[in-house]
Amino acid sequence: LMGYVGFANLPNQVHRKSVRKGFQFTAMVVGESGLGKSTLINTLFNTTLYPPKEPLHPSAERSKTVAIESIGADIEENGVRLHLTVVDTPGFGDFVNNDDSWKPIVENIEARFDAYLEQENRVNRLKAVDNRVHACLYFIQPTGHSLKQLDIEFMRRLHTKVNLIPVIAKADTMTDEEITSFKERILSDIEHHNIHIFQAPTYENEDEETIAEAEEIASKIPFAIVGSNSFIGTPDGRKVRGRAYPWGVVEVDNEEHCDFVKLRQMLVRTYMEELREYTNDVLYENWRSEKLVSMGV
Ligand code: GDP
Ligand code: MG
Repeated sequence: LMGYVGFANLPNQVHRKSVRKGFQFTAMVVGESGLGKSTLINTLFNTTLYPPKEPLHPSAERSKTVAIESIGADIEENGVRLHLTVVDTPGFGDFVNNDDSWKPIVENIEARFDAYLEQENRVNRLKAVDNRVHACLYFIQPTGHSLKQLDIEFMRRLHTKVNLIPVIAKADTMTDEEITSFKERILSDIEHHNIHIFQAPTYENEDEETIAEAEEIASKIPFAIVGSNSFIGTPDGRKVRGRAYPWGVVEVDNEEHCDFVKLRQMLVRTYMEELREYTNDVLYENWRSEKLVSMGV
């Protein structure tokens, strides 16, 4: 599953604590319908864990995601266990009025906070399960223009509750130059609207290689993503996950072609512990104290 990702060799001190206990990590995908959210989850899990309802022809349209669903898997590497869950959400943007389409998603995130709070209040906390959402991939349509009003609204509703990680969907439909300028445009829109996205912290007491890896990942945000579960032959005779075009194959797992590998590396290796910590120490803690205030405690 997912090949060898390297979470068993995590870079810093904090990670070693989790290594002993095993990890629970939950990511969520959010964005307009048809941007490839469900496909990306399949791609992350390498197709087998999240089979389509019926056999899928490469050209066939998937059925639409209509409810919030989670897909989980246990991964083990060098004796370290990771329980990875990805929460798929229905797309939005299909209706004339999309005003409240963020609501069920925010409610789902808060329900997970609630479940955690309930466990914290129990006497025996040893078996606490952490189902909180640690990262939210926000899918942006590859328009090359600025962010849509709907995206801004969604991100503003979400950014105080989850680590937001913006991604450019279907990056195979844009040229490298278009992606570079679109990334700049997205980041300046995000800043202009005071949206807080996950800030990858830089390591201080780490070796050069670790620092270089972290900086390389941070420089790719928003990640340009290509999802596919079809294996395609390349002109030089390899079988790769990718999308075929008359001019060639866009390879999912090739870092020259898109940022999928970097995104996966960020989630399950480089920044997993930081994503979990920020969720617990800041996002959850803020939500909890607001809740206590509103209850008059
Ligand atoms: P969702 O509504 O966001 O879950 O989108 P789906 O995963 O159901 O995908 C919608 C359509 O987009 C399907 O026909 C996919 O094959 C296609 N698709 C998914 N990912 C990509 C991608 O990275 N590039 C391109 N060109 N098409 C994609
Ligand atoms: Mg879907």
